Amino acid sequence: MEEHTPAYVTVSNMLTDISQLEPFDVAGFDADHTLVKYNVKALTKMIDKIYMRVITEDCEGYPKDIADLYDEELINFSFNGATLDMNTGLLVKISEDKKVIAAYRGFTKLPDTEIEEIYGKDRIFNEEYSVWHYRSLDKGYLGFHSYFDCPVISLCAKLFDLKTQGKIDKTNEEIFNDIRTCIIKSYVHYDAEKCYKIADYGYFFTEIINDTEKYIQRREDFREMLIKLREAGKKVFIATNSHAEYTNLIMTRSIGDDWRSLVDFTASHCGKPIFFKEIHGTRKFFRCDYESVNLKGKECDVDDLEETHTYLEGNCKDLEEYFKKLIDKDEINFAFFGDHFITDAAISDLHKNWKGVAIMEELNHEQVEQTDESQLVGYEKYWGSFFGGEINGEWHKNAWVKFAEEHTSYVLPLLGDLKKLLDK
Ligand SMILES: [Mg+2]
Repeated sequence: MEEHTPAYVTVSNMLTDISQLEPFDVAGFDADHTLVKYNVKALTKMIDKIYMRVITEDCEGYPKDIADLYDEELINFSFNGATLDMNTGLLVKISEDKKVIAAYRGFTKLPDTEIEEIYGKDRIFNEEYSVWHYRSLDKGYLGFHSYFDCPVISLCAKLFDLKTQGKIDKTNEEIFNDIRTCIIKSYVHYDAEKCYKIADYGYFFTEIINDTEKYIQRREDFREMLIKLREAGKKVFIATNSHAEYTNLIMTRSIGDDWRSLVDFTASHCGKPIFFKEIHGTRKFFRCDYESVNLKGKECDVDDLEETHTYLEGNCKDLEEYFKKLIDKDEINFAFFGDHFITDAAISDLHKNWKGVAIMEELNHEQVEQTDESQLVGYEKYWGSFFGGEINGEWHKNAWVKFAEEHTSYVLPLLGDLKKLLDK
C-alpha cells in the first residue's frame, strides 16, 4: 500500500465558519451524494454487479462468467477522479501539473519505467488535459467523477484486463461503447419523449427501491440543518439532475416524507451544468406533471413558480428572479453545495453572487480519526491518497484537489459539517 502523509490531506479553502458564506440569502443543495448520503461501499458493490449483468446480457463478446473471474474486493479499485486514456486503455491518476502519478493496465500497476516509456520522461499525460474538460473523447481521454461514476473505473479495468489476456477481441472504442451501454441501461430512464417509471427501468432503480435503507442513510442532522437555515431567515432549494420520481424517493429516505415542506423550491432533472450556464432565461422551468408521458407539464415563467411543486429543467437566472420576489430584495446572494466539483461547485461559483461549495468526502475518509460517516471504498490500496502522490520522491497534488481549491469558494468534507458550523 502506498504511504501517504496525513499533512497532505487538506485543502487551502476549507469552510470553517458559517460567516465565510455571508452575506447569503439562499442556500441551494444538490441531492445525490450531498443532501442524500449513500453508503458508498454498498452502492459501489451493487452497481458493479449490475454492470457485470449488463455486459453479459446486453453486450456481445464477453465471457459469461465474467463476474466469477474477478474478486469482489476489486470494487476498491473505484477511485474518484481516475481517467481512462482511450489510446492506451490505461487508467491513470493525474497531478495538478498534468503528470501521470499512477497508471494501471487492467488491475496491474505499471512500474515507473513503463509509465516513462509511454508518457515520456516528464510523464505528461496530455498537454491539453484540464479538469474542466475531464471528458474529452476528441482528445482521447475520459475522466470519472462522483460516486455513481466511480464503479465504471473497475468496469474499465476488468474489460481492459480481459483484452490484455486475449479473452475478448474488441477495439478500445468498442469497449468504450459497451461501457456506455452499461451506464445508459442503468440510469438513463428518460429521453425527450418519455420518462419511464423508475421501477420499470433497468436494474439500478429496482435495487434502490427494494432496499432503500441499505443504500441511503436517514439523516436527521440534514433535516435539522434545513430547519436551522430557514430559522436563520435563509431560503432553501434543491437542484438535482435526478428526475422527479427518484428525487422524491431519495429525499423521502434522507430527510423524511415531509421533505417538501422544508424547502422553498425543487428543481429536478435540471441538467447541471447547463442549468448554471443558461443565463438568459430561455431554458424554461416545466412544472412536473405525472399525467404527461415525459413528465413535462406547464412551461413556467418566473411568476408561475411556486414552492409546492417540483419543476424540471429551468435555469439559475429564473431561479434568482423567483427568490428575489420571494425575499423582496433586488440583490440576493446564494451558497450552493454539491459533491460534483465542476457541475455543482465550480459552475455555480462562476456567478458573482453565488458561492459554490464542494463536498470532498475523501477529506473525511483519509483523516487519521475516521468517523462512522466514512463509507468510501478502500481505494488507497491501489491508488494511494486522493490528494496526490509521489513521483521520483517528490509530492504532486491531484489535479482534482487543485481544481477544487482554485475554482470553488469552499470545500467541506461532509455535508454534516455544515450542520456543525450552523450549531457553533
Ligand atoms: Mg451529486
